[in-house]
Amino acid sequence: MSMHPQPIGPVPQDTARVARAAFPKGNVYMQIRDVLGTIYEDEDFSELFEVRGRPAITPWRLALVTVMQFSEGLSDRQAAEAVRARIDWKYALGLQLTDPGFNFSVLSEFRSRLVEGGKERLLLEELLEGCKERGYLKVRGRQRTDSTHVLGALRVLSKWERTAETMRSALNALASAEPEWLTEHADPEWFERYGRRIEDQRLPKGKEAREEYLKTVGADGIRLLAHIDDPQAPQGLKELADVEILRQIWEQHYQRIDGEIRVLDPKEMPEAAHRIESPYEVEARYSTKRSMDWVGYKVHLTESCDEGFPHLITDVHTTAATATDVKQLSAIQDGLARSGLLPAFQLADASYVCGSNLVSSHARHKIDLIGPPYKDNTWQAKADQGFDVAKFSIDWEKKMATCPQERKSIRWSKTKTARGRKMIHVEFASDDCDACPSRPLCTRAKNLPRALTLQPREEHEAIQFARRRQKTEEFASLYSQRAGIEGTVSQGVRAFGLRQARYQGLERTHLQEVATAAAINVSRLADWLNGVPAAATRRSRLAVLAQAS
Ligand code: SF4
Repeated sequence: MSMHPQPIGPVPQDTARVARAAFPKGNVYMQIRDVLGTIYEDEDFSELFEVRGRPAITPWRLALVTVMQFSEGLSDRQAAEAVRARIDWKYALGLQLTDPGFNFSVLSEFRSRLVEGGKERLLLEELLEGCKERGYLKVRGRQRTDSTHVLGALRVLSKWERTAETMRSALNALASAEPEWLTEHADPEWFERYGRRIEDQRLPKGKEAREEYLKTVGADGIRLLAHIDDPQAPQGLKELADVEILRQIWEQHYQRIDGEIRVLDPKEMPEAAHRIESPYEVEARYSTKRSMDWVGYKVHLTESCDEGFPHLITDVHTTAATATDVKQLSAIQDGLARSGLLPAFQLADASYVCGSNLVSSHARHKIDLIGPPYKDNTWQAKADQGFDVAKFSIDWEKKMATCPQERKSIRWSKTKTARGRKMIHVEFASDDCDACPSRPLCTRAKNLPRALTLQPREEHEAIQFARRRQKTEEFASLYSQRAGIEGTVSQGVRAFGLRQARYQGLERTHLQEVATAAAINVSRLADWLNGVPAAATRRSRLAVLAQAS
């Protein structure tokens, strides 16, 4: 059955009267309803309901309930109860006083539809569209971007727990799918070894005993997989998700050599980007940043920061914890382009700035990326009196470099870095460099002339320009506004539960972060409409002291 959009009427008179009596000055939700209307329309979600029929409550209301739910950090049950019992919610949703609401399970089904249909971004986009139409967002203004870590919805497991829990979850899945087959093929001790959660059991003490336990679990898993792969086994067993996870985690932890099982050394295991940390949350990844490590995801927030306008989150980009910031900028800008919210200036810290991002920001979206470029870490640049690459003039047409001693390069060839990046290798003449009085400032290579490794022309010039600009007052003034995004991250973490994933998997975690961003925007817009000034980024006295000293 397809969903037919229903006309959205005004707030019912009785609801409006009682709500105004209860909140004479209005509240956040009533104010947003008065200013932005319903924000969402049923047509926005029509594709999601063509397959499985109409929901018990219209989609625009479910979208708004989801945002209000994240505004207050409510569970599905609490949100459904708020719809039934709270007058400000009824006002925002345009419901009659007597409306009985809906069963809380509808919310989870709505989220599933959003994720399956790839429409979770609408929760934020439609809100921003309403803000743009009413002039609360400046077109081609300034925006700033930063990322923070998100803890996955899982218990972090040791390798002993991880392997044994994986075995336990596979056995449980088999016990549901083919109980008789499992009874026939399971080793008797498996019922004891994997019958209870591993965290509730006492694991062997001591390094050797633990290693032996790891091997025993590994051998159990290999026997189980052999039974499953037997042509006589029911075909469906191989396709069970938990069996597939068992197979993958075993490949990451064990090796079989001549029938013997060997536990892989951590250095032999796949890198963190591919390593499964828990059989119950297979997309969360382990990562480290400075002194912090976590298992989960990373979210990149971009927000407007124009003076005289509310600062609203314009884009949410969620990735695996291991994904680097520098590789996300292009996707973030594409998201802003899709929403019609591209800025003229994007402020970001050094982790987003590289030659190709500076070039592509401008070429693809006419964005001036404002951020400190990575440092030239050569000794010549560090000493600040040596001849770093900036001291050489490059003639790209003639494919030639001129050094500070006015000598011309004699070789110009294409090369690649170990990671496959295209570069240019430039070399000077041995005769020139051997006789050069400035040689100590230029190269420490014995018996070799000076050589340069250059990025492709556009990237090289963009980085050199960014390094020169970084020393200007104009840059300092613009870049100082970037720090405000840290306050937004802090607000998201402390007031809106952004740090801890509620759901499992990247897509659902992304939905949570999008809904959280919409909730933050609702709160900020209401504050701005009421003349509440944005709080300055708070820094502890100790942090201020540390920077001053
Ligand atoms: S060492 Fe070679 S490249 Fe460097 S300044 Fe002297 S002549 Fe030029």
